[in-house]
Amino acid sequence: MFKPVIGLEIHCELKTKSKMFCGCPNNSDETRPNFNVCPVCLGHPGTLPVINQKAVESVLKLGLAINGEISPISRFDRKSYFYSDLPKGYQISQYKQPFVEGGGLKGVKITRIHLEEDTGALSHDKGNHTLVDFNRAGVPLMELVTEPDIKSGEEAVAFAKELQLILRYLDISEANMEKGQMRVEVNISLSQDNEMGTKVEIKNLNSFKAVKEAVDYEIKRQSEVLEAGEKIIHETRGWDDIKRTTVSQRGKEQAHDYRYFPEPDLPPLDLAEFNLRELKDSLPELPEEKRIRLSRNYGLTSAQADILVENSEAADHFEEAAKKLDKKKTAADYQTLFNYLTSDIFGLMAEKKIGIKELKFPPSGTAEVINLIGENKISSRIAKDVLKEMVETGGAPSLIIESKGLRQISDVGEIENVVKKIIAENPKAVEDYKKGKENALQFLIGQAMKKLKGQANPDILRKLFGDCLSK
Ligand code: ADP
Ligand code: ZN
Ligand code: MG
Repeated sequence: MFKPVIGLEIHCELKTKSKMFCGCPNNSDETRPNFNVCPVCLGHPGTLPVINQKAVESVLKLGLAINGEISPISRFDRKSYFYSDLPKGYQISQYKQPFVEGGGLKGVKITRIHLEEDTGALSHDKGNHTLVDFNRAGVPLMELVTEPDIKSGEEAVAFAKELQLILRYLDISEANMEKGQMRVEVNISLSQDNEMGTKVEIKNLNSFKAVKEAVDYEIKRQSEVLEAGEKIIHETRGWDDIKRTTVSQRGKEQAHDYRYFPEPDLPPLDLAEFNLRELKDSLPELPEEKRIRLSRNYGLTSAQADILVENSEAADHFEEAAKKLDKKKTAADYQTLFNYLTSDIFGLMAEKKIGIKELKFPPSGTAEVINLIGENKISSRIAKDVLKEMVETGGAPSLIIESKGLRQISDVGEIENVVKKIIAENPKAVEDYKKGKENALQFLIGQAMKKLKGQANPDILRKLFGDCLSK
């Protein structure tokens, strides 16, 4: 049996104001090509790089968040190669002394996290020409490398998604894969009888779906090669997004020799200069801590907690509303709140194509609706209408109920009059019910509810039918 062995190399563009080694704006939304450039990021001779402190802090924050070890002294190195998106002929990166070593995430050991600069962007789609845009050249790029601890495509995706969440919680990268702000490379081999196999590296994975499919494809491809008694070629493969297969890009013999050496224009960095204690204390609550707290404090299932962990604004709305719930606050109340928020309110938001920030009512409005349901002042049917109106106008629930006459009718006399009337008008259904047809009762209740414009307290209505029909 072959066992898949997988390690990831993940690059993320950091969300800093300026670039890694110069003062140019770091703005991925800039549409004017070669606008955010200067002699430093264009690689003009005689220019000198200056380290971006925020970028270093961002990497240290991530290092602390994954319980990695921060090296006391760190250093930049030159990684030499020639390419048209790299005017200097080398990239400033880190080789022997990265900022962070060790740590872990989702049961996967982290090898290292280091900092480097992004290259320019080439576009090949203009006839016979290739265009180069240096707006991206010199943007701070973080690279995280994992140990080969991952065993499947699902695990690889789960790891990458959790990292993406952490980067967003730390507010250090937007980590949008479609925009190339987060790029995942997969290293994969099949081991047999605990012997490590030859690994293949897969590049160009620009979605989680592609990561999963590429791993699955590669496991199948490598198994077939090995089962046929052949050898795996140590190579780099690309992901073909149309054919949905991996394709060979270059073999080991064409691998680069980068001739790393210490960057002579930058001093080694003494990381004691950064207040690590303070940085650690400044870390926000992380996704996993939040998952545990939401499950513990509100009795949410792990799937429910996940929905809120992945949407911090919804989580804030939920927690603010939870505080405003009536005294009792049982797990059932939190479930009701969760359900109205994630099905009804989310549904209405989707219809209007708005986000939670654009809601015109505060979390206390949501809480009030739940409280009114709990007090039997409105039915769940009416609650839906009230929420719809709240999303439209931002009005307070009590005012909407008042002005639209939506208050639930719990007046026994008023309901009883209607019940009697419906019984008198539907002798056939009454007869059917007495013969034991439960459907007939449903029909009668439905008729009465219609007459009461859906506002009758359903429990009282049902009880009155029971009473009147058994007479
Ligand atoms: P290279 O020298 O080819 O860059 P590294 O040892 O630096 O290889 O590892 C790069 C990535 O490949 C890491 O994520 C590591 O976990 C992973 N890796 C190393 N060996 C294997 C293997 N046999 N199978 C799968 N992944 C591996
Ligand atoms: Zn610049
Ligand atoms: Mg390597």
